[in-house]
Amino acid sequence: MAEPILPGPLAVRVRAPAKINLTLRVGPARPDGFHPLATVYQAVSLYEEVIAMPAEPGVIDIRVSGEGADQVPADDRNLAHRAAALLARRTGMSLGVRLSINKSVPVAAGLAGGSADAAATLLACSVLWELDLDHEELLPLAAELGSDVPFALLGGTAVGSGRGEAVAPALARGSYHWVLAFADGGLSTPAVYRRYDELGPTPPEPFEVSAGLMNALRSGDARRLGPELINDLQAPALDLMPSLRKLVALAEEYQALGVVVSGSGPTVAFLVESEADAVDLTVALSGSGLCRSARYVTGPVQGARVLGV
Ligand code: ATP
Repeated sequence: MAEPILPGPLAVRVRAPAKINLTLRVGPARPDGFHPLATVYQAVSLYEEVIAMPAEPGVIDIRVSGEGADQVPADDRNLAHRAAALLARRTGMSLGVRLSINKSVPVAAGLAGGSADAAATLLACSVLWELDLDHEELLPLAAELGSDVPFALLGGTAVGSGRGEAVAPALARGSYHWVLAFADGGLSTPAVYRRYDELGPTPPEPFEVSAGLMNALRSGDARRLGPELINDLQAPALDLMPSLRKLVALAEEYQALGVVVSGSGPTVAFLVESEADAVDLTVALSGSGLCRSARYVTGPVQGARVLGV
């Protein structure tokens, strides 16, 4: 008797990390409206999890649970939906998937949670559909989906240019202790860029990642990294959410090594020396009344990875 045709996997579980920007230099808007960026990303130990399961051809079904799930569309506006649709289109086949997204990354927080979902979905679907694509082959698709999606695939510490989508691994040593303070509510990335333009962009001269930051990363010394943290979107983010000023000011009170708003905010990342300092600061921030919650994470961590098939 003929062997039955073996079906593909029944479920593929993938996780992808949030990012923080150690530096984010923003050039003036180009004629197409986009701002050129020079950034250094670091992936941190706060993960989105995506499970991909088979569905009828042509069907993309999404369930979202976890942190901020009620603020995330579960239809074709979801970045994970767009990721699955793009990958299916490129294969030229009619493929289907049921996606279950479990969010730990707050929505519209400057941590690229939606981008992590998209990266995880690309990887999960490529395994589910047995397309045999590696990270390198998924990177161009990731870049089509959004500026932060390629980095969520790559992970680690990386330099981003263009709109942030052109990523190259950075020479970085060591592991860093961060405390993320989550603000009440989110900030819309386009709104922060608009305010940046209104405030009068101050293109850094020269418009590039500083040698000081790259040297600090090479040394692996958090004490050297702290003063190098910089984000040109911090001023517009603080302008749109003035309560963040007090939060950022706590860095001095608690002797953090450095502090920076991540991406377009409003998450504030505090760099500290050790796990013990991170735990102390997490408790202090949580009780400060200046943020919704605080979370200890480390970086760098790996990009999107399959956890199980
Ligand atoms: P950006 O990546 O634009 O800098 P962010 O990191 O601050 O944004 P995200 O949580 O990634 O924030 O998403 C921003 C917006 O994208 C949300 O307001 C939401 O409506 C939309 N969105 C689409 N898909 C997703 C998703 N899978 N998870 C979260 N938000 C999503």
